[in-house]
Amino acid sequence: MQMIIGGKETGSGSGGEFSVRNPATGEVIGTAPAGTGDDVGAAVDAARDAGAGWAKKTVRERGIILFRAAAAVREKHQDLARLLTMEQGKPLREATDEVRGFANILEFYAGISASQSGEAVRLGAAGDCMVVREPLGVCGAIIPWNMPVLIMGWKTGPALLAGNTLVLKPASTTPLTSLKIAGILGEAGLPPGVLNMVTGSGEVVGEAIAESPGIRKLSFTGEAKTGERVRALAAGHAKELVLELGGSDPMIVMDDADIAKAAEGAVRGRFYNAGQTCTAVKRLFVHEKIAEPFNRALKARIEALAVGNGLGSKIDMGPLNNPAQRDRIAELVEGVRHNDEGMVVTGGCPLKGRAFEDGYFYRPTLVTGAAPGSRLLREEVFGPVLPVTTIHDLDEGIREANATRFGLGASVWTKDIGNVRRVFAEVEAGIIWVNRHLTVPPEVPFGGVKESGSGRENGQQAFESYSRTKTLFLGW
Ligand code: NAD
Repeated sequence: MQMIIGGKETGSGSGGEFSVRNPATGEVIGTAPAGTGDDVGAAVDAARDAGAGWAKKTVRERGIILFRAAAAVREKHQDLARLLTMEQGKPLREATDEVRGFANILEFYAGISASQSGEAVRLGAAGDCMVVREPLGVCGAIIPWNMPVLIMGWKTGPALLAGNTLVLKPASTTPLTSLKIAGILGEAGLPPGVLNMVTGSGEVVGEAIAESPGIRKLSFTGEAKTGERVRALAAGHAKELVLELGGSDPMIVMDDADIAKAAEGAVRGRFYNAGQTCTAVKRLFVHEKIAEPFNRALKARIEALAVGNGLGSKIDMGPLNNPAQRDRIAELVEGVRHNDEGMVVTGGCPLKGRAFEDGYFYRPTLVTGAAPGSRLLREEVFGPVLPVTTIHDLDEGIREANATRFGLGASVWTKDIGNVRRVFAEVEAGIIWVNRHLTVPPEVPFGGVKESGSGRENGQQAFESYSRTKTLFLGW
């Protein structure tokens, strides 16, 4: 496939390309251009040229185009979901949810377009003020491979509705579905140059976007370590920066929780997308009074997960997205065994057999008695490994939940409103779920505290963050 710059499909200025592989089979399923710094420059110029016309449209006119774009994506959702499964690895059901999720986001922003107004402030004899919102200009977006389509939606929906134009870089292992979607948006009426797509490596294309003086705001989603690099590169030119980084979400299961429901929630919360979700349940704390039946229910559910090529029917979990990720997970679990930092109750190895040998599969893994301070609890574990620790009471649960440098999401499973109030007040996170985990609706703001990032996506707040106020002072 080709990049999209100024509405035109184009190769890289260097002529280079890279291959995209199916993580379930290792087969090459497509190629994308290895973009250069000059390609980023051309995309920024195209976005700037398109900016004036796009900003002049009313919010409602832009909203109508987003509605049309969402409808066009919905119409092609089956083909898009298939392609997403083939490049990312997730089961077709999850890929379908993700593509529909993209359409939901555009529709949410298109829906709020009718209700945007400014403010009038009367200052008596001094005069009157009128406050309106205007777009920031050219914005940049850097996307990870775990939820490439959904996160593209989180950034394009509010940025475009607010009247900005975009230069977007997909992750190197998952550019294909995003490029297809950008093409569909163009066919649905998004003017040329409003959304530009530059593919390639983080070191070349990502860094050129981060450093570009022509980009007014950059929204980056990815690992905490990369986020720090991006923060340093983006300093200067008064660029606004949103960093959506890693997480190590705690799930606290109290002694009054519905055991079956909580075990189900933990399995979905951890193994959805093969554990490669920023808000996945990465540390589970269960009250000692129910630990034994709860862990039994958990193990049974984990062992019942059907793992395989995401295109297969009734598959619950696909491969990891890339071999480096699988090897990182394997190394972490080996560390648990070697250092005696917990008991690997099920899983704990790659999947064996001919059907799996060329893919990047790892068995869904449960570790009980995870040792406080172990790597499994300290680092962001971005794969299908669930560490469980027993707690004596809620005080300990909250203490352990906060014993991390991350603070993205957290959940408590209980029927007691007193527990809910304490967790909501005391656990450091951007979202607290009660008796569920993982869901991030477009209607509410989302983002982290501590090293999980800064800034918010989604909700009315994200739309406002892609614009700035301008005041007219009428002196009488
Ligand atoms: P990553 O940091 O390796 O890459 C993310 C993007 O940054 C990719 O497009 C990559 O090419 C680019 N990149 C890499 N090096 C760069 C550089 N030096 N300069 C500029 N760009 C560069 O992350 P990943 O492995 O693709 O994604 C997984 C991570 O993303 C996890 O930590 C996960 O928790 C996080 N994540 C966070 C959220 C959130 O909303 N907080 C959502 C999804 C994923």
